[in-house]
Amino acid sequence: MINIKTMLIDGMPLIGTGEPFSVINPATEDIICQCNMASTEQLDQAVAAAKRAYSTWRQTPDAERKRLLHEIADHLEQHADELASIIVQEQGKPLALAQIEVGAAVGWTRYTAELDIPEQVFENSDTRYTTAHRKPLGVVASITPWNWPLMIAIWHIMPALRAGNTVVSKPSGLTPLNTLRLVQIINEVLPKGVVNVVLGEADIGNAISRHIDINKVIFTGSTPTGQRILSNSANTLKRLTLELGGNDAAIVLPDTDINQVAESIFNTAFLNMGQTCAAIKRLYVHESQYEEMGKALADLASQQVVGNGLNPATTFGPVQNARQYRLVSELVEDARRNGGHIICGGEASSEPGYFYPPTIVSNVSKGVRLVDEEQFGPVLPLISYSEIDEAVRMANSCEYGLGGSVWGSDLELAEMVACQLECGTVWINKHAEVLPHIPFGGCKLSGVGVEFGVEGLLEYTQLQVINRHK
Ligand code: NAD
Repeated sequence: MINIKTMLIDGMPLIGTGEPFSVINPATEDIICQCNMASTEQLDQAVAAAKRAYSTWRQTPDAERKRLLHEIADHLEQHADELASIIVQEQGKPLALAQIEVGAAVGWTRYTAELDIPEQVFENSDTRYTTAHRKPLGVVASITPWNWPLMIAIWHIMPALRAGNTVVSKPSGLTPLNTLRLVQIINEVLPKGVVNVVLGEADIGNAISRHIDINKVIFTGSTPTGQRILSNSANTLKRLTLELGGNDAAIVLPDTDINQVAESIFNTAFLNMGQTCAAIKRLYVHESQYEEMGKALADLASQQVVGNGLNPATTFGPVQNARQYRLVSELVEDARRNGGHIICGGEASSEPGYFYPPTIVSNVSKGVRLVDEEQFGPVLPLISYSEIDEAVRMANSCEYGLGGSVWGSDLELAEMVACQLECGTVWINKHAEVLPHIPFGGCKLSGVGVEFGVEGLLEYTQLQVINRHK
């Protein structure tokens, strides 16, 4: 059992007075913590605390805010082993990957600490001097998913703080413990009320997005929930950043050296057991190399050691929760029924735990659920094409637009193809690489706004123009 069940509101540990719920270890299906959701009154308390803290936090000098963010990074480093262990137990990923997640959380905190808002002068003429002032927004609510729970919480909280906002965080009820611990650690450094955390699911989520005293919601999660937040926020006209679902296509150009790209394709399709927003979710391969690619990926799949993430030999953990596990099984069965060929995997384990092996399915195309829907799990459909234009058309024939990639040695051709893809980021000979200095966000149903870099930081600010006449 992990004994971290208290929310933190105005620096005070509090047990939720709402519905009880259990946190499950996906590798064993054991209950590892019993928690309670917040009541709406407790959410109101958290928002009121954040609003009070805002009046001083917004005035805190820039240099001091930077220093405090670095101090938080120091504390996270001191607690790195503990945080990684919590992540493995509630999220399921192998320990080495959880350690990478904690390392990235520290790195992102330090990078964000050093980010500055550039000065902007619109006009400096004989008649006027017009400049941009970027002010914090007030109380920012962060709502996070269960796949990279710590890293995504950091992605939300750190730029909000850097820009002078205060925060109410609401983690996924499936993986709340690392965020509860994170906020405790943050509160060792920051004044009370600057960062608060509440537990809850849709009810608290709805109350957050309707709350009059919350000025922005930064949300990472599924598209239907993002749409709900958008409509709930209409009355208060909140600022929103919505990082939503994806169904990323990767196109392997003809004559690509399959041996050279297969491992990188495998690793980015199955990153975090495929539970990554910008993982490769559809792989388009030229008909002349279709079989070769299937074999190369199946070979890599066979090298994975599936098991409990706490076992050092494990390279492939369970799916995080029963619902996602059922969806993956269902999509594979549906593909099988519709003529899909299971090159490897395709059978769920009968042992306890939500284990599903890395699965590659060929002989599928648009119209099969595995291709059309976001699987968000360890199964990759391989789709054959004969003309590059056809591959681009198929890649774009999707309601999502998060990431995409083009693979091949002809970099000019790859770039031409990349420019035709309808998505927020296109990688060439890579996929799923997100970096703290490079903006990341989706188009179409994958979201609104960006995170990271200066563009990401500006989303936590309100532009005010000062127009001085001379
Ligand atoms: P989800 O939408 O089910 O839940 C996300 C969060 O929203 C959770 O904290 C949940 O409690 C909360 N929530 C539920 N109902 C709510 C409501 N009515 N109002 C406000 N909040 C509510 O998503 P998930 O299953 O946790 O995450 C998987 C999804 O997240 C996938 O679609 C994945 O692609 C997406 N994702 C996107 C990115 C990105 O950067 N674009 C990153 C990671 C995950």
